Parts: sequence; C-alpha cells; structure tokens
Amino acid sequence: MSTADRHRVVEELLPAYALGAADEGEVRRVEAHLAECEGCRGELAAWQGSTEALAASAEPMEPSPGVRERLLAEVSGGARPERSDAAPSRAPFRIAAMIALAALALAALGWSTLGQRALRDEVGALETQVAELETRLARADTELARSRSELRSAEAVLALLAGSSPSRDVLLAGLEAAPNSRGRLIVDPDHRRAVFLAGRLPPLEEGRVYQLWSLKDGQPASAGVFEAVADGTAIHVVEDVPEEAPDAWAVTIEPEGGVPSPTGPMVLMG
Ligand SMILES: [Zn+2]
Repeated sequence: MSTADRHRVVEELLPAYALGAADEGEVRRVEAHLAECEGCRGELAAWQGSTEALAASAEPMEPSPGVRERLLAEVSGGARPERSDAAPSRAPFRIAAMIALAALALAALGWSTLGQRALRDEVGALETQVAELETRLARADTELARSRSELRSAEAVLALLAGSSPSRDVLLAGLEAAPNSRGRLIVDPDHRRAVFLAGRLPPLEEGRVYQLWSLKDGQPASAGVFEAVADGTAIHVVEDVPEEAPDAWAVTIEPEGGVPSPTGPMVLMG
C-alpha cells in the first residue's frame, strides 16, 4: 500500500478512532500512520475536539451511521474480541468512547425534550385556536340573534305600514333621567301588536336593560325588555298588546331579563 493510500484509509478511520470505536487492527494502522503524517495528526485533533464539543453540546447531533454502529458494538461489548496487549493504547480512547456515548445520550435526550416541547407548543397553539373559534362562534350566535330580532322588528314595521287597519301612535317624552330621549309606539289594535321606536336613550351599565310598560288604572304590565344600540336608538316589537287601550306607556331601566313590576328609574313616559 502506498503512503497516499494509507493516508486515505487512515483519514477515513480517524472519526472512529477519535471516538474509541476503531478495532485493534485499525488502531494499529492509524497509530503507525499518525507517527509519520502530520496532516492526520491535525485531523485527529480536530475529531477529538469535535467529540468533546459533541459531549458538551445540548443540541441534538446525529452521529454518522458507521460511527453509531461501532459505538453500539462497543457498548454491547461482544462485537470484537479484546486483546490485553492493546489495552494500554486503547485506554484514552475508552474515555473518548464514554464521551461519545454521553454525547449520544445527550443527543437522544435533546431530541426527546425538544420533541416534547414542540408537541406541547403545538397542543397549546391548537387549544388557543379552539378557544378563539369558540369565542368567534359565540359572538356570531349573538349577532345572529340580534339580526333575527332586527329582522322581526323590520317585518313588524312593514306589516304595520302596509296594514289597512288604522294604527294608533303614542308619543313618549324623556323624563328627568333621560330628558333628551324620545319614543314612539305604533300600535296595530286589530292584531294587538305594536312597534316601539326610541332615540337618544342613555347608554346602560352592564347587566341593565330597558323595559317597556303599559299602564292601566295605575297598574303596570310588562311589554318586554329591549336594549339600545350604540347611538341610543332602539326598536322593540310588542306582541300581545292589551285589548283595552292602556292609559299610558312608560320605559324604565331594570336588571337584565326584566322584572314583574318596575323598580328602576323611569326614562320615557307617554
Ligand atoms: Zn495521513
């Protein structure tokens, strides 16, 4: 074998040698060549340096399949017969092998830890997405309910306007609690239905609604609850208007859901 050939063969053996995974014959061949080749000595130093760097690094590093195979054979112990005469020269490389094994263990740990973290992040991101979608869905439900109610109001107004039966209008004026507010109730007595329109209603605190009342002989009867939109306007359909025309109509501010008889401040009356 020529010097150049030996150099090429040994150069290929250097990584395994640095990891302590070279067999007896390889060790001898490498060491004989190292004595006469400065290039390979430098190469070996680099490999030994990277072995230590591998051991010191928490980043996952995958050893080449050949090196891994040799390492696994080294660990299992039975792959190659040990010879006692080689022991002194191999001792430093056992340390290298342990370093390499530690590096492998670190690499494996790195992978699984990183893998778990990635999975946890993935799950967390998915949970956030689901929560966002649920929020959006709830908001869409609320908007749908509002749209349906507005549509019902619009239909009621159109029916009133198109109806042949004469409607009766009741004007409501703002009281002290809301002096600028105005209301108008368009009653269809034949169908016992009314549409209530209001403007410039003051914004309400959380958990408060407006409630419309009909008053007869001083006795209030609820005509339903409603909310105003941001600009203070409201439209509310009253089904089942009292057969006998009430003496008056009024709007009060009440807890969400409404109450059987008025408790809050009165804002409109007419
Ligand atoms: Zn060489």
